[in-house]
Amino acid sequence: MRQSHLFTKTEKSAPKDEVALNAQLLTRAGYIYKNSAGVYSFLPLGWQVIKNISAIAREEMDAIGGQEMLMSALHDKHYLQATGRWDVDVVYKVIAGDDKEPAANISWTHEEILAEIATKYIHSYKDLPFAAYQIQTKFRHEPRAKSGLLRGREFLMKDLYSFHVSEDDLYRYYDRVAKAYANVFARCGLKAYYTLAAGGEFTVSNTHEFQVESPVGEDTVYVCTQCEYAENKEVSKAADGGACPKCGGAVREIKAVEVGNIFPLGTKYAKAFGLAFTDEKGEAHDVVMGSYGIGISRLMGVIVEQYHDEKGIAWPSAVAPFHAHLLGLRGGDGDGIYATLQKAGVKVLYDDREATPGEKFADADLIGIPWRLVTGAKTGAGTVEIKRRIDSESRTVSVEEAITLITTH
Ligand code: ATP
Ligand code: MG
Repeated sequence: MRQSHLFTKTEKSAPKDEVALNAQLLTRAGYIYKNSAGVYSFLPLGWQVIKNISAIAREEMDAIGGQEMLMSALHDKHYLQATGRWDVDVVYKVIAGDDKEPAANISWTHEEILAEIATKYIHSYKDLPFAAYQIQTKFRHEPRAKSGLLRGREFLMKDLYSFHVSEDDLYRYYDRVAKAYANVFARCGLKAYYTLAAGGEFTVSNTHEFQVESPVGEDTVYVCTQCEYAENKEVSKAADGGACPKCGGAVREIKAVEVGNIFPLGTKYAKAFGLAFTDEKGEAHDVVMGSYGIGISRLMGVIVEQYHDEKGIAWPSAVAPFHAHLLGLRGGDGDGIYATLQKAGVKVLYDDREATPGEKFADADLIGIPWRLVTGAKTGAGTVEIKRRIDSESRTVSVEEAITLITTH
């Protein structure tokens, strides 16, 4: 893409009303726009990143048999009333037309919705198990929405739901989801601890969170220094300095951000909607469910919190909006090299703007694309100056060599 065509522009200073570093950098670089507290729009560069993170999540969910779908966002009140969740404080309720009372809410989670859908199709043990997921917008009235993408009032979630004949079958699938989630976070460049936690508004059982260590994290997690066992402070028996309940090793207290959460739900949602199946003997049982969430937009924020320096963002290549940022300086062969890179299938942002070299270099550092290429009066025909965003030294190579470097690293 030609940068002169991008309708967004970079900004030198951070917006005054943003205290979170992820929101400051993403706003300055033109990835996101804040519409109101905790509510963001994803601009063209930001949407590329969201699509890359979503593609990783999709691949991993498809690999464990998840069927992608898209559920409604406007929910009649009978759904949450059926499970006693209509008055959960983060739920946004909707008053329509002349109504005095809200008769619906906007989506905050979808256990009730898919449990009811399943009653139409699931009748026999032969219809089970199955799992379905979506990537969809969730709305939650978060009182503290000061952390940028880490805590939105409107945010993107990947939510998967699974349906089983028994607890045993649920827990077998639960472990497969845990592995798939670990893959998602590793592919996004994050180290996430598999952490024992409480069930919140979802279940009375213990659950597991995926927690990424970060100074801006709102959660306190105890992590074993030997076996990497982790538990959230809210359920922890091992206070800091205590022993790991699994291996007896020393425990370390960390601040962390929850990027994913998986829940064994039991039969609560099936009971509420009459979701039952008949077994081989013709006896009826409630369906056992699990639910599993990843904060897609929160992940984007966490990646920025982890991958940046004083000049800007430095995206891991798996999620970067482009692979290469070509800076066309006066006297260089910008148009020609841009065409060659595109022909080779390199996703490239081409800075073809009328701007000073200093402005172009500063913008490249801020936007954070993994490889920077420069063509100008000093680079000879058929060559470019290349460097990675995270390196300080550049070198001059042929355009062919640059393509090999970009496509293999
Ligand atoms: P938290 O404890 O951080 O409030 P939660 O436990 O309420 O999150 P879940 O209902 O488990 O969140 O949602 C699944 C995932 O969605 C979370 O692991 C997180 O990554 C993401 N998420 C939850 N709330 C938000 C939010 N307000 N903004 C962005 N992402 C969120
Ligand atoms: Mg959670």
